[in-house]
Amino acid sequence: MKITRILAWRVDLPLREGSYKWSGGKSVSVFDSTVVAVETDAGLTGYGEVCPLGPFYLPAYAAGARAGMIELAPHLIGEDPTQLARLNRTMDAALQGHAYVKSAIDIACWDILGQAAGLPVCVLLGGRYGDNFGLYRAISQEAPEAMAARVAGYRAEGYRRFQLKVGGDPAVDVARIRAVAAELEPGDRLIADANTGWLMHDALRVVAAVRDIDVYIEQPCRTYEECLTVRRHCDHPFVLDECIDALEVLLRGHADRAMDVVNIKISKFGGLTKARQARDLCVALGVVMTIEDSWGGDIVTAAIAHLAHSTPSEFLFTTTDFNSYVTVSIAEGAPQRVNGRLAASPRPGLGIKPKMDVLGAPVVEVTG
Ligand code: MG
Repeated sequence: MKITRILAWRVDLPLREGSYKWSGGKSVSVFDSTVVAVETDAGLTGYGEVCPLGPFYLPAYAAGARAGMIELAPHLIGEDPTQLARLNRTMDAALQGHAYVKSAIDIACWDILGQAAGLPVCVLLGGRYGDNFGLYRAISQEAPEAMAARVAGYRAEGYRRFQLKVGGDPAVDVARIRAVAAELEPGDRLIADANTGWLMHDALRVVAAVRDIDVYIEQPCRTYEECLTVRRHCDHPFVLDECIDALEVLLRGHADRAMDVVNIKISKFGGLTKARQARDLCVALGVVMTIEDSWGGDIVTAAIAHLAHSTPSEFLFTTTDFNSYVTVSIAEGAPQRVNGRLAASPRPGLGIKPKMDVLGAPVVEVTG
């Protein structure tokens, strides 16, 4: 099988709640997402998606995803999309870095492989564990009482894991953690995600001030070394996210006992092929995972669901259903939250079909 054409579309995904705010005053109200189609000479077409969380979160931005595809796609015409490891080597040889550019193409090729094999992607990624899996709900950064007031509504939607956006003023963040913790019921879990927003001294004050609370602390500071310093003075379960983007730093984190949980975002690693490598390494090392992406619509949510559903249940700390946060649906067949839980499609490939009327005209087209 050979790749004959690669197309990309830009699609805006407005937030259902109006805006999403996190550390350092960062916020987004409309996500700029990119959908990719990889067409083949076998008549199969695979779809992928990449959606950076704005240009100021990770080293990734939406227009860069599309510019990178124009650079990369000519090297992939004529390649076999079902030979995923080979294809990733070809992408890495043609374009250094830029993992997020490669992510949507890699996802689309997994969609093709699944269609060709007649198997859902989760089976190809290792197998399906259980009927479904639990989701977390991110709580956008607001005043402490406003964040606490969100919990009951989200629990009514079935969520039992609440990821609190902190990383602001340390005293207010302590109040946020305390206010939300007061709303928890048995079985709920609370994660305070600073998204790199604290300096070390502030992070140390926050973790000391909430020592009596059952809360996970996620990525308090910008760098791995800063986070490790906080970790060594913290007796809460500890999650690393933004600084974990490759196997090398995962191995280093394990050797340093730097984390109990890692956040595997598909586009941070460069697609399902590399995110799966990281997932399998974490299982081997005994590290549990949040499996997700930076953001996305129906196609990213489908890809997340396949990777999450193929992860042994006890290693899946939590995951997310981004398609429920936005007002625009871009594909039929995407997984939908039921009682706070999600399942990967049983259909071949990702199990989705893009809504071409929503996508409109492609903005990238590369042929042989
Ligand atoms: Mg995080």
